[in-house]
Amino acid sequence: MSRTDTIAVVGAGLSGAVIGRELAEAGLRVEIFDLRGHIAGNCHTERDEQSGVMVHVYGPHIFHTDDREVWDYVNRFQTFLPYKNRVKTTTGGQVYSLPINLHTINQFFRTALRPDEARAFIAHQADRSIPTPSNFEEQALCLVGRDLYEAFLKGYTQKQWGCAPAELPASILQRLPVRFNYDDNYFFHQYQGMPENGYTDMIGRILDHANITLHLGVRFVGASGDHFAHTFYSGPLDAYFEYEHGRLAYRTLDFERFTYEGDYQGCAVMNYGDVEVPYTRVTEHKHFAPWEEHAGSVCYREFSRAGGPDDIPYYPLRRAEAETQLSTYVARALRERSTTFVGRLGTYRYLDMDVTVREALDTARCFLSRRSARAPMPAFLHRPI
Ligand SMILES: Cc1cc2nc3c(=O)[nH]c(=O)nc-3n(C[C@H](O)[C@H](O)[C@H](O)COP(=O)(O)OP(=O)(O)OC[C@H]3O[C@@H](n4cnc5c(N)ncnc54)[C@H](O)[C@@H]3O)c2cc1C
Repeated sequence: MSRTDTIAVVGAGLSGAVIGRELAEAGLRVEIFDLRGHIAGNCHTERDEQSGVMVHVYGPHIFHTDDREVWDYVNRFQTFLPYKNRVKTTTGGQVYSLPINLHTINQFFRTALRPDEARAFIAHQADRSIPTPSNFEEQALCLVGRDLYEAFLKGYTQKQWGCAPAELPASILQRLPVRFNYDDNYFFHQYQGMPENGYTDMIGRILDHANITLHLGVRFVGASGDHFAHTFYSGPLDAYFEYEHGRLAYRTLDFERFTYEGDYQGCAVMNYGDVEVPYTRVTEHKHFAPWEEHAGSVCYREFSRAGGPDDIPYYPLRRAEAETQLSTYVARALRERSTTFVGRLGTYRYLDMDVTVREALDTARCFLSRRSARAPMPAFLHRPI
């Protein structure tokens, strides 16, 4: 059946939902497809039947932004309750506060330094023998010195990315990862919070529009786009082309779920910095909703590893040697006439949720203005490279 007056949106995650909603509100008919049996993509949340805890099914998600329009947009569909992410880390048998701040430094070095003293102390710790850091490890040694690097950055980074930090680009750690005060709010952004009823409820409300038809459990293949006026594709870029140039590298995550009667760890996120501990962190989901009370608890131990063909792609692994393969896919995508690649998988970039919403709003607006000007829509509004 031809649906040439209809727009296809692939993926019912945040990208697809926001694009679909904007187009639907502009009067267009939109069909949204997701191969999963639920909406919300990787932001999906669901209540655990036994304990009532809201579980972040694909890993913890905290909304934070400085973008006022994005904040107002998400608040249209859900009440956001105050939530500050305060992460702890266990390393060498001790618990410390993250990101590395004055409390971390004073605990770790058993000192009672004031901010200026700590600044001078860390400057003294820093390795000044490396003139131009060429990788993550050198960058870290230059910024914080060996002791803090080994305790807080080395093991975690190695587990997260599956390689020695010396093999990762220095750019990952450009800013000084240390605060010389007692601020342990993980994010700097002005607006931070959690959707009162979870992300899936919020995205359900975004999708709730008379012009939107949702198809769950349906895999969209590139050729299906021929039936539509235009396709917005938020699935993996390489999958769209049936992996004809090989698979783009991703890290995937395994979550070992366990329950506990009471409070397992006293905080939402506990990182594990030691490389001997095989998981990167433990998430205790009920602490993401401090306004709720639950006797039971649901926790995830999180393991990171190289993604295989049947795994969920989580983090793009942007290694220099893979950029040629990515360029080939981008060149291929640029030849598509009626598909726009969007979102974290379609553009092979790590995107926080606020950036995802911002890009989705900009993409929909660009499409609407080009459509009224009868101008073509580009394959990428935000290019992977
Ligand atoms: C572990 C983890 C933690 C995160 N924590 C945070 C956080 O704390 N704060 C924050 O701001 N951001 C966080 N993020 C980022 C956040 O998950 C993304 O910003 C968001 O999910 C991007 O939405 P999306 O719609 O682009 O992609 P996705 O959520 O991946 O949605 C894409 C959808 O497309 C579907 N799909 C793919 N291919 C096809 C196909 N061929 N046919 C049909 N459907 C298809 C998929 O099933 C999926 O549902 C985190 C990400 C990860 C991995």
